[in-house]
Amino acid sequence: MMIQIDALPAFSDNYLWLLQDASTCRCTVVDPGDAAPVLAWLQAHPGWQLSDILVTHHHFDHVGGVAELKQATGARVHGPAMEKIPERDVDLIGGETIKVLDQDFQVIAVPGHTLGHIAYYQADLSLLFCGDTLFAAGCGRLFEGTPQQMHASLQRLAALPDTTRVYCTHEYTLNNLRFACAAEPGNEQIKARLQQVSEWREAGQISLPSTVALEKSSNPFLRTDVPEVIATLEQNDSKRYDDALSVFAGLRAWKDRF
Ligand SMILES: [Zn+2]
Repeated sequence: MMIQIDALPAFSDNYLWLLQDASTCRCTVVDPGDAAPVLAWLQAHPGWQLSDILVTHHHFDHVGGVAELKQATGARVHGPAMEKIPERDVDLIGGETIKVLDQDFQVIAVPGHTLGHIAYYQADLSLLFCGDTLFAAGCGRLFEGTPQQMHASLQRLAALPDTTRVYCTHEYTLNNLRFACAAEPGNEQIKARLQQVSEWREAGQISLPSTVALEKSSNPFLRTDVPEVIATLEQNDSKRYDDALSVFAGLRAWKDRF
């Protein structure tokens, strides 16, 4: 079974991930903040049907196109039960397995950016759609949850197999890597990744998806136990940090003013 995945750009830096099953001509979109790119794709691909919409959380740039797409296509809308999601058909809290494009997707609760935030994981194809939780070389801001919740959510995602491809929502990678360099200046993998992503972006190319292995080696928010990260943060904040959770909170606060 092959699923092709394309990024439909929206707004200034969002990607709407479009999963396509050519054997059935059905597709699924993740977090359609805008209906227009999806409707344009469907118009350009006659015979294709949008079967499902997967929503990770309630922010407008993730749900703004849901109602229009539901009305135009009748797609089934999956989303977090504890958040206000337009036209939601399937209420999810994490722990469920849903069938989408004939594949099993596990729903993982990842509170932090918002309280009901969920991620969708497909084990056989090694796909993770994680919205605004884990970004390439970064993580989402804490709008609703605590550092503790976000730290635990990121640990949950980091525990997935190394080969898992990470499809997050935003093209923030370059800016995130500049922060990663500041947080861990001696990490050669971060420098190499910054160089590569700079070249991709100059050529107008997308920097996603990432992988869990790449994130574990170059994302400071997954490296809260690395001595250099802790030492750099302590120097920056002129205070001591005693545990991984407070290091995470300190890094997130530093990134917010970076
Ligand atoms: Zn968001």
